[in-house]
Amino acid sequence: MGFTFSSIRQYHTDLQAGACTSTDAVLFYLEKIRQSAHLNAMVMVFEEEAIARAAALDAALQAGQPLLPLHGVVITIKDVLCYKGHPVTASSKILSGFSALYSATAVQRLMDAGAIIIGTTNCDEFAMGSTNENSAYGPVLNAADNTRVPGGSSGGAAVSVQAGLCMAALGSDTGGSVRQPADFCGAVGLKPTYGRISRYGLIAYASSFDCVGILGNSVADVASIYNMVAGPDGLDSTALAGNAPKVPEYETNESRATYRFACLAPTLEGSILDPEIKAAFEATIGKLKAEGHQVEFVPFDLMDYIVPAYYVLTTAEASSNLGRFDGVRYGPVATTEADDLTAFYKRNRSAGFGPEVKRRIMLGTFVLSAGYYDAYFTKAQQVRRLIMNETASIFSRFDAILMPVSPTTAFKIGEKNADPVAMYMGDIYTVFANLAGIPGMAIPLFRHSNGMPFGLQVLSNHGEEVPLHLISAYIEKLFQ
Ligand code: GLN
Repeated sequence: MGFTFSSIRQYHTDLQAGACTSTDAVLFYLEKIRQSAHLNAMVMVFEEEAIARAAALDAALQAGQPLLPLHGVVITIKDVLCYKGHPVTASSKILSGFSALYSATAVQRLMDAGAIIIGTTNCDEFAMGSTNENSAYGPVLNAADNTRVPGGSSGGAAVSVQAGLCMAALGSDTGGSVRQPADFCGAVGLKPTYGRISRYGLIAYASSFDCVGILGNSVADVASIYNMVAGPDGLDSTALAGNAPKVPEYETNESRATYRFACLAPTLEGSILDPEIKAAFEATIGKLKAEGHQVEFVPFDLMDYIVPAYYVLTTAEASSNLGRFDGVRYGPVATTEADDLTAFYKRNRSAGFGPEVKRRIMLGTFVLSAGYYDAYFTKAQQVRRLIMNETASIFSRFDAILMPVSPTTAFKIGEKNADPVAMYMGDIYTVFANLAGIPGMAIPLFRHSNGMPFGLQVLSNHGEEVPLHLISAYIEKLFQ
């Protein structure tokens, strides 16, 4: 076989030169998936279908048809994205036996651009988690160290890129679920502006935060996917109306500008920040300054409120969104009769949801309850508004904000399970972008002395994915 993948661009050059076929690619990835079964990254593999589609794409090329933008690009989709006629479960027992009735807009656009969906990836149940340990299918193992978590909630997606099971992956990012696992697995991860990629066909966790995101081996590969899936969609009323400007995919940055970078003052103060990540962050700032860029620390008094506001608002939205799962048509349908309807629902929901999802439904129901609504939900909404205002003010003076992605590298499986609040605090650097609605890119740049990868996060202003990609590609290149 001898198929190797370096970039989508190179793959397309090879396809056109007849040096490989999409069938070669699919067979190669199917074999890799078989060899990597122990990582538990995949939920479903669409073997026959992927082979048939590759053959059709190869035949079209042979017949002289032009190369499609994502011709034969082999992609995994997180188990929260609907793909018509294929099972989708959000890695939850409550959706076992359910198959999608339509395709998510992002998935459909990939198909229209010539991509091959090779399978679905494991994740935290309903995308709630930071380690992929909250999955009905069991944990996913980090391919760099099988005793460690891959991050979450798009842990399977990150490992599918890390272990070379596909060329790129679609995930979802409500509070870091694309960027943090990308960081833990050494992949590039993009969370777009809220609304930039349609949420139609994405199983909802927290609707005012949820974004479809992209994981890949390079910023250029992520851009190739982004250019195809981003843009307005009549099927999602929260999708941004204007056309998404295309990212110039193979920007060389030779005539690059000097950038103005902001860092939030409290970023490096937290005691939970790993000293090596801190040192690498400081060294990056030094390097950027030496290259002639401006890097400034700006005051940001809201840091302590970020994680609490995120968990109040997202659990509130989750408690509403997950109310629809009654376990009647799908999931662990009760075989013995219940005394009444409420008892029936209770039994199905108790059997169908895992402990973390239950915790969040209860927390969310509590913060929305009559006596506590103002104290928690309204307050958190106010905090969110302040964060948005402050963020807008920073972007009136700067091109991008730099941050670590996570305070730690990938930790051991089981290490943080006992303390949910400590686990939530690990989301400190990622939930900011979701509260503010802005786009962010995680770029893998470094290796920790413990052997694990980590990198840096670049955040840009609302709707500014093009500069985000250009700056990220520049930083990626600076560290090559
Ligand atoms: N770790 C965060 C949470 O558990 C983010 C999840 C996500 O982005 N889907 O809520």
